[in-house]
Amino acid sequence: MGLIVQKYGGSSVGDVERIRHVARRVAERYQSGSQVVVVVSAMRGVTDNLLGLAGALNASPDERELDMLLATGEQTTIALTAMALHDLGVPAISMTGAQAGIITNGIHTKAKIHSITPQSIQSELEKGSVVIVAGFQGQSLHGQHITTLGRGGSDLTAIALAAALKADLCQIFTDVDGVFTTDPRVCDRARKIEEISYDEMLELAGAGAKVMQARSVEFAKKYGVVFEVRSSLNNNPGTIVKEESESMEGVVVRGVTADKKQAKVTLVGVPDRPGRAARIFRALGEAAVNVDMIVQNVSHGASEPMTDISFTVDDTDLVKASHVFDASQESIGFRGVETEENIAKIAIVGVGMRSHAGIAAKLFQTLADLEVNIKMISTSEIRVAVVVDRERADDSVDALHRAFIA
Ligand code: ASP
Ligand code: MG
Repeated sequence: MGLIVQKYGGSSVGDVERIRHVARRVAERYQSGSQVVVVVSAMRGVTDNLLGLAGALNASPDERELDMLLATGEQTTIALTAMALHDLGVPAISMTGAQAGIITNGIHTKAKIHSITPQSIQSELEKGSVVIVAGFQGQSLHGQHITTLGRGGSDLTAIALAAALKADLCQIFTDVDGVFTTDPRVCDRARKIEEISYDEMLELAGAGAKVMQARSVEFAKKYGVVFEVRSSLNNNPGTIVKEESESMEGVVVRGVTADKKQAKVTLVGVPDRPGRAARIFRALGEAAVNVDMIVQNVSHGASEPMTDISFTVDDTDLVKASHVFDASQESIGFRGVETEENIAKIAIVGVGMRSHAGIAAKLFQTLADLEVNIKMISTSEIRVAVVVDRERADDSVDALHRAFIA
């Protein structure tokens, strides 16, 4: 009963058989008396293929045209899903983002939702139809251009529609059973988490667990949309993502993650004077290099104090970062650059850390027992992260999982 928003990702609608399977699941919900809004992604691989075609014709395609192109991926899936539902005798109508009333700003390829006027969805629901909405796309407020919401943006479509329609339930269907305590492909101790807070989910994403588009989780937090991440391949209950509650604090560490796609950069011999860090990170920002952990060491040298500054970047940005420093060594005035690629960032995350002491010490001891060397440390209220050698990442995750979770 009630109104339910279900989102099916690219792998869940990856081929004709899977679309038929999705249609059956939707039909079941519909026949049990619910009003159902379905959000679908492009079929698996389609968005990447379209990007490939664009790139083959133009090294930097116009972003308006890119959105026009990318939006076709989801448009294919909505029509096919509607046809599959019709075949099961279920009334269903597909809608593009624009038809569904999703209005965005005009920033092509990463538009932000401005507002949603879901009247046409509501009137179709009232007529007894299932409504199938194209994920990832909207229409700009000025100019009525087709826009897209950034990679993984179908998650955002689903969460935002659930908020606008005041849905009773929002389910994000994917090809895994939910959010796990760690990557089950790497660690067989991993298990499904029953409930997780928005903040923990965001920290896990930031620490390298790519479950959902981070923006969509931020949106859910802002509007208090409770949602469930679950598998489209079975009927197992998934993970409920919601506001933090007192019972959640009983668990100190919710998850352990490893991000093996980071590299470490150290600027050696930076003059320890006001404004140097600002210059360094402004230069990186202007080159669109994403910086994560930053550590500045104690300064040494009495007359002309110097310091070393280390930080991590996405390893795909390492070359870009090197160029930045080749160009600015003189103006910023440091002695040299050291880079290290074979690193991994390991993190433990949990809201229970707010009310428990000694968590960092236990993490350090666990790694010490394994003789894993810690190269950098950073913390937030609900996260402790360290950088270690990449080849020790899996061992470290396993030991931390054992120490903190099970
Ligand atoms: N099709 C888009 C992408 O691949 C949006 C999505 O799947 O959520 O990023
Ligand atoms: Mg996705």
